[in-house]
Amino acid sequence: MFGKFKDASKCFKETKSIISNLVDFNIRNPKKMAGYGGFSNKNIFKQDETLYVGEAAGLQDLFWGFGMRNAITSGFLAAQSIINDTDYVKDAENYFNKKLKASIVNRYIWEKFSSKDYSFIINRIHNSTDSINI
Ligand SMILES: Cc1cc2nc3c(=O)[nH]c(=O)nc-3n(C[C@H](O)[C@H](O)[C@H](O)COP(=O)(O)OP(=O)(O)OC[C@H]3O[C@@H](n4cnc5c(N)ncnc54)[C@H](O)[C@@H]3O)c2cc1C
Repeated sequence: MFGKFKDASKCFKETKSIISNLVDFNIRNPKKMAGYGGFSNKNIFKQDETLYVGEAAGLQDLFWGFGMRNAITSGFLAAQSIINDTDYVKDAENYFNKKLKASIVNRYIWEKFSSKDYSFIINRIHNSTDSINI
C-alpha cells in the first residue's frame, strides 16, 4: 500500500472478490467508509464515579486509528487506580496527553505527504539528527 497508494481502490475490489468467493454473503445497500473511531485530545477520563478507558475516553491514535494498546494501557491504569486508590485522571493525562498530540502531528504529516511519498519524509527524519529541522 505505501508504494502503491493510488492502487487502493483496485486492491479493495480484488479483496472483495477474493472474499466473496470464500464466504457466502450478500451485500445490501453498500456505503463507502474508510473507518470509524473515537479520538479526542480533550479526553473525559472520569464522570461522576465512572472511569472511561479506550475509545470511550477518546484514546485512539489519530495517525492510523490504532487503539488496542491505548485501550489496554488505560484499562490497566484505571484498575491500578481502583486497587491503589490513586488518581486515574492524573495518571491517564500524564501518560496519554503528549502521545495524542503527537498522533495529530503524525496524521497531519501523513495527509500532507502520503499521496506524494510518505517514505520520503520518514527517510528524511530517519537520516537527520534533528527531526524538527529536516
Ligand atoms: C477494522 C478495524 C481494524 C483495526 N485495526 C487495529 C489494529 O490493527 N491495531 C490497533 O491497535 N487497533 C485497531 N483498531 C482499533 C481497535 O480495534 C480499537 O481502537 C480498540 O478495540 C478499542 O478498544 P476499546 O476497548 O476502547 O473499545 P471496543 O473494542 O469497541 O470495546 C467496547 C466494548 O463495549 C461494548 N459496549 C458498548 N456499549 C456497551 C454498553 N452500553 N454496555 C455493555 N457493553 C457495551 C461493545 O460491544 C464492545 O465490545 C481497528 C479497528 C477496526 C474497526
